[in-house]
Amino acid sequence: MMSLLLAHYTTWNLFQKGVVLTKDNLASRQWKGSIKCCFCNFDEAIQHLFFDCQLARIIWRIVHVSFNITPPMNILHMFNGWLIELNKKLMYKILVGASAVCWAIWLSRNDMVFNNSRAATPLQVIFRGTHWIRFWALLQKENGRPQVTLGCRVLETTAMEFFASNGWSFSYRISNGQFCACFSN
Ligand SMILES: [Zn+2]
Repeated sequence: MMSLLLAHYTTWNLFQKGVVLTKDNLASRQWKGSIKCCFCNFDEAIQHLFFDCQLARIIWRIVHVSFNITPPMNILHMFNGWLIELNKKLMYKILVGASAVCWAIWLSRNDMVFNNSRAATPLQVIFRGTHWIRFWALLQKENGRPQVTLGCRVLETTAMEFFASNGWSFSYRISNGQFCACFSN
């Protein structure tokens, strides 16, 4: 439960209006830099970065394949109604995972914006996410950890298999130093 609270707190803080300085928010504060998403050529906004961007869509698709869970539509849906049919314990665990996915996207984006890092691949973002899930799991009662660890392994394995079998049908287009992941089929 502690891990959920921390994950929820982190994500909720992340998404509170005005706290997440996505580029649309920065622009509304007279910021003059580019408002393009780091991962594609659309404008960066919360909905785009975490749900609609190609990078996010690939990641949510892998979550979908791993756990047979339809991706959340937006942040409100994620915390209200997305997992309504699941039992509470499982719902909490999946919300921790989903929060970690968002957190990993945000950190990867920040690396690019502030550290000029190369664009993270979906696989790198997923492994960053599972790192955070394992970290948060340490705050959980020991008997809850094996299921979380198993969930991480399922996600990582699915992601690796996904890219091994489909990877070469993804094309990574580099334009103007930006990275764009596109489905080629
Ligand atoms: Zn994008």
